[in-house]
Amino acid sequence: MSGVRLVVFGRQGAGKGTQCAVLSEHYGAPHISTGDMLRAAVAEGSEVGRRAQSYMDAGKLLPDEVMLDVVRDRLAHDDVVEHGFLLDGFPRTVGQAEALLDMTTVDAAVDIDVPVEVVRERMLGRGRDDDTPEVIDQRLAAYEAETVPAIERFAAHGLLERVDGLGTPDEVTARLVAAIDGRVAGA
Ligand code: AMP
Repeated sequence: MSGVRLVVFGRQGAGKGTQCAVLSEHYGAPHISTGDMLRAAVAEGSEVGRRAQSYMDAGKLLPDEVMLDVVRDRLAHDDVVEHGFLLDGFPRTVGQAEALLDMTTVDAAVDIDVPVEVVRERMLGRGRDDDTPEVIDQRLAAYEAETVPAIERFAAHGLLERVDGLGTPDEVTARLVAAIDGRVAGA
């Protein structure tokens, strides 16, 4: 096993996708976004995609079993074995968090912290297809109910770094790299 093995948390609209792209380049570890994987599956019309569509349209989380199959397969690929991973959008529930920690080693989990009112305004302005106000609120509610407890699991395992997500993208990247390097220095 080599490379860094990171989980990146943050509410939708916290700049997580942008930061993951930069961190993936910086650490040379593949960026694994379960949302992107599911959108690709929907576009392909695969079996997972057909199941995912209605959940995604409603801003609801897919069942853990489905997500665990998707992630387990992805983590078995050579690029992950060689270079580690940067997980974005997974885990999203306590069940997914515990299953991930059973499945593999995680060096650190970082939480890009942006207040809920700020991300709500950002998402309303961004207007992705599934970003209606109802769906945005549904996704934010799911985050509070399901994902905040999952983040707490990483805190309980002593793996969590919370980083202030307000400021320019470069400022946030600098904070993230400092927090991650404090964990994986020499890795
Ligand atoms: P995202 O782009 O990460 O916001 O993901 C878009 C949608 O995909 C979410 O609203 C969920 O419906 C679904 N999804 C992505 N990742 C997960 C996950 N780890 N668990 C359950 N559903 C997920």
